[in-house]
This record gives sequence, structure tokens and C-alpha cells, in this order.
Amino acid sequence: MTQDLTIIRYPDPRLRKVSVPVTQFTPELRDLALRMVELMKEARGVGLAAPQVGHNIRLFVINPTGEDDDIRIYVNPILSDPDGEEEGEEGCLSLPNITAKVWRSKLLRLTAQDLDGNPIEETADGYIARIWQHETDHLNGTLILDRMGPVARLACRRMLKELQQKWDDDHPDQKKKKR
Ligand code: ZN
Repeated sequence: MTQDLTIIRYPDPRLRKVSVPVTQFTPELRDLALRMVELMKEARGVGLAAPQVGHNIRLFVINPTGEDDDIRIYVNPILSDPDGEEEGEEGCLSLPNITAKVWRSKLLRLTAQDLDGNPIEETADGYIARIWQHETDHLNGTLILDRMGPVARLACRRMLKELQQKWDDDHPDQKKKKR
């Protein structure tokens, strides 16, 4: 079943939901996380959140360096103790061909659980802190679109329109409902 997973794209409504905490640390959860790691690597991404594969649960995977020994899986992550701010370029596997400069906290603490439910506590700055914030946004239904300035948003208007068009074409029923 998890083999059928794919990365969903804007404007799929599942990307806009607030995801629910994981309460059961099952073999299915592990399968899902490992499949997400595969998809992330195939897409050459540095992070992937469960809502991006259509599962609205609080889970994300990251691979900041692209190396196999640097894959990290976080269940029920909570970010705290932000310090400093910096602007940096971000892309998103659910928004192909769009990048934007986004302000993020420089330094953060993350508490979470691993796939067995054991507690994790880490601090990071820079790139990893940025990925944590991007993926946590996904768990709350937030996309980089929401963090862009008006000029950047205007610059990607055509790409968004194309994605919307493609989604409408792939979902004729939903389109009808909306009208
Ligand atoms: Zn993303």
C-alpha cells in the first residue's frame, strides 16, 4: 500500500490541512516513513513531510547532506527556543520550479519522537534549522507561498496557475463541485 505513495503537489487540499499527532508507533508507520525517505531521495529533496504524500499526520523526514547516514526521521516534532533570524532560498517538492527567499529562525530546539516512540531532542542552526521549519510548516498546512513577499508571489504566478490547471484537469469532479 505504501508503495503507491507519491508526492502530491499544490493545490492539493491535503497540503492545507493541520496534521494530527501520531499516537500509535506501528509497523505501518515505519513503512510509511521509509517509503517517504525513498521518495525524498528520488526527488533529490532535503526534506519531506507526511502531508506531502497525502497522510495528514505529524511526521517528517530530512536528509540535509544527501548522504545515507544523514537521514533523520521525526515523529510529533515540536520546535522551540528560536533565536535570531535569517533569510534564505527555499524550494518545495510540492511546488516544483518555484523558489523563494524565506525568513526563518537561525537557531532552534526540536523535540520529537523516533519510530519507536522514544524521545528525541536536538538543537540546530542554519540549514538544518531551516529544513525543520519548512517541514513543520507542512504539518500545519503552511506553504512557502504563505511566507513569500508580494513580489516573489507575483513572480511565480504563472507556475501556480499551471499547477492549478493541471490539478483541475486531473480532478474534473472536484472542479465541478467548486462551481
Ligand atoms: Zn515543502
